[in-house]
Formats: sequence, C-alpha cells, structure tokens
Amino acid sequence: MPELPEIETIRRDLIRDVKGKKVKDVEILNPKVIKEPEPAEFKRRIKGATFKDFFRRAKVLAMKLSTGEYLVVHLRMTGQLIYSAEKQEKARVVFVLSGGRYLSFNDQRLFAELRLVYDWQKLKFVQELGIEPLEKEFTAQKFKKMLGAKKTKIKPLLMDQTFIGGIGNLYAQEALFLAGILPTRPANKLKDEEIKKLHRAIQKVLQDAIQYRGSSVDKYVNGRGKKGNYHLRLKVYGRKTEPCVKCKSSIKKISLGGRGTCFCPRCQQ
Ligand SMILES: [Zn+2]
Repeated sequence: MPELPEIETIRRDLIRDVKGKKVKDVEILNPKVIKEPEPAEFKRRIKGATFKDFFRRAKVLAMKLSTGEYLVVHLRMTGQLIYSAEKQEKARVVFVLSGGRYLSFNDQRLFAELRLVYDWQKLKFVQELGIEPLEKEFTAQKFKKMLGAKKTKIKPLLMDQTFIGGIGNLYAQEALFLAGILPTRPANKLKDEEIKKLHRAIQKVLQDAIQYRGSSVDKYVNGRGKKGNYHLRLKVYGRKTEPCVKCKSSIKKISLGGRGTCFCPRCQQ
C-alpha cells in the first residue's frame, strides 16, 4: 500500500505534468470510487476546471481546482494516478486533459476514494491525522513527549495514522531497523538516545524513499506509470530468512498487530 513517500512522489509528478492543465471531460467508468458528491454532479463540477496545485497530508492527496474546490484522493491499497498519452485500460475514472493527454485513476480492489470538496482539511479522516513526520514541528523532543504516554508496542504505534501520518507497514519496519530498535518494544520504555535515533531514522527512510521515487512492492507506480526504486534498497521488509545487511544473521518475521513484521534479532534490541 502506498505510504508517504509514494504519495509525495505522485504529487511532485502531478505538479510537473498536470498543473495548469484543463479538464476537458471526466469519464466515470466505475462510480463506486466516487464518495462525494453524486457521480453526475462530480463530473459537472470538474469539467472545464483547471488543476491549480497539489497538496499532501500523510497519505492523502488534494488537488486544487480553479473552481476553488479540491479533488481529494486516497489511494488506499491499489489506487494509481497516471498521466499518459493513452487512457489506462483498467481506469475507473479518466480525466481528459487539455494538450491531448489523460490522467487516469486506477484501482484494482476498489478501496480507493475520490471526493470533491471545498474544505478538504475539514474532512473527518484528515482532521484525525497525526503529526507530519517531515515537517519542522516533528522534533525529537516532540516525539519523546508523544511516546511518553503510550504503552503500546512501537511498531503498530508508528503505523497509527492518528499518531503520525503517512507511515505504514513498510517504512515502520525500515525505520526500526535503521534505529536498531525491536518492533515489539513498548513505546514508553524507549530510552532518550533510542528516541533520538528513531526520530532520525524515520526522517531518513522517508526522505531517501522520496529521493528514490517510492517502493514498488505492490501496485504502486508514480505519476508517469513507472515503478519506484526504493524497494531495491529495503533492509528488512520482505526479507524473511535472508541475511541481515549489517550482521549476516537471519532476518526474522513475526506477526504484530496482525501485520507481518521483519527485523534482525541481533541488530535490533
Ligand atoms: Zn543484523
């Protein structure tokens, strides 16, 4: 499932490719992905508008239109947004753009969501989002305060979108490996030095993953329909029984909060 780096990569691609383009038509091939307003109304209000800007909050993308409304996209598990010369074959919604190209919204599993609203920051699931891990407000000191009251295990806590926004199963595992911390440690038992390391590790893996244009371990492709490169650099995710890149011990996999979790039993304490 795409996480912060993948959504940020798509956002940057859309700024480059789609900003300033006018929507000449909206083809709705599966109305199920449109949560609000009604599909006919959705189409009527977008047709003729121009894409003005692109924002991201955690894993949510908000596309500002010249009408003042925002097209809010949540890709969930298998959603894709692809700008290309041809319509994507399995698109659920196609935005026909000025200049003769298309922005296709694909979603194999139909969990992704499109909304057209004026005040996207007031959407309930946006309001509930926790701190942005790459923003200035997320300091090591702030992180320490946030962890202090939490008795839950650190890895599911990092994935809790109301705690920190944008980290999922993949980057939580990578950040904990980089910080040398076991995924099962209770959050409020981390020592100051470990909190600092984890804070740095979270920012580093997210920034590196953006630099490498995301991880294509599933359906993720960037805004031009290409795979990312960061999955080639993963240290623990999906590497069960492979040797640890640091110490050559065998990577272990456990289930934690219902999610597969890989770690090095020697490098992570
Ligand atoms: Zn190791």
